[in-house]
Amino acid sequence: MSKLVIVGTVAFDAIETPFGKTDEILGGAATYIGLSASNFHVDSAAVSVVGGDFPQEYLDLLKNRNVNIDGVEIVKDGKTFFWSGKYHNDMNSRDTLATELNVLEHFNPIVPEDYKDSEVVMLGNLHPLVQQGVLDQMTTKPKLAILDTMNFWMDIALDDLLSVIKNVDVITINDEEARQLTGEYSLVVAARKIHDMGPKYVVIKKGEHGALLFHNDNVFYAPALPLEEVFDPTGAGDTFAGGFAGYLAKTGDFSFENMKTAVIYGSTLASFCVEKFGTERMQNLTDKEIYKRLDQFKSLTQFDIELA
Ligand code: AMP
Repeated sequence: MSKLVIVGTVAFDAIETPFGKTDEILGGAATYIGLSASNFHVDSAAVSVVGGDFPQEYLDLLKNRNVNIDGVEIVKDGKTFFWSGKYHNDMNSRDTLATELNVLEHFNPIVPEDYKDSEVVMLGNLHPLVQQGVLDQMTTKPKLAILDTMNFWMDIALDDLLSVIKNVDVITINDEEARQLTGEYSLVVAARKIHDMGPKYVVIKKGEHGALLFHNDNVFYAPALPLEEVFDPTGAGDTFAGGFAGYLAKTGDFSFENMKTAVIYGSTLASFCVEKFGTERMQNLTDKEIYKRLDQFKSLTQFDIELA
């Protein structure tokens, strides 16, 4: 089993969907990634920053799921990163209403000593210089570095983002962001261009339309499970990334074949995330529930066909 370092935001989110509206609730890329990866029982640590306004009980949620939080700095007189978003009626697209960086503005990540030799590094969504800062602290080169990002960083820190992208093995990105990053509409062409930027593996997330995994000329597609209840897609992308990274860390097999299974785990975990607001559904997820849904996933996608 490999060790896993997770970097990303730990945040307050205010979310509006066609089904309701929340005040400031727990959110952040590292939170969703950590909760998702914790289902694989790997030795993992989160690296992030919060302000003095952040409730300890939120941090304890990660700690109780065995995610080490020694690398989550608390800036006592600072305010926690805040994000607010509103989903359109299709729930597949959203507008960001506010992004307040607050303590993230002057954040220097510190990877706990015991995790500097981790085999897997999951660079969740935040400033690309912070993502690079984490890579720079690793004392042994990780066997797998995965990066997730979003349009916000493409808009304000594109050069830094392109530099860190060069240094990772896998990128997970959504379809619109892949188009923005490459200027290409076709996701196949966009994936090829992203390959050329550095990552050997490109995962393009398409929300309720599933996810694509590209490696050289190979493509694998996993649909998203059709769900009866979708309340809040926030964190689905991060939950996917956490499941993907967690499964790969658990198995220690970073081949394309095994990444296909990692995509299935990522999609399965993301399918739970969207069923309730914020992190609620991810807080007490059980292995039994996950296996049941994996089974549904299998029957959804398996078929026999005779080719003459
Ligand atoms: P997702 O829905 O998977 O794209 O992730 C939503 C989470 O990303 C929310 O919990 C936010 O707190 C967090 N988030 C939103 N904007 C940013 C940003 N610019 N950088 C890092 N995290 C962000």
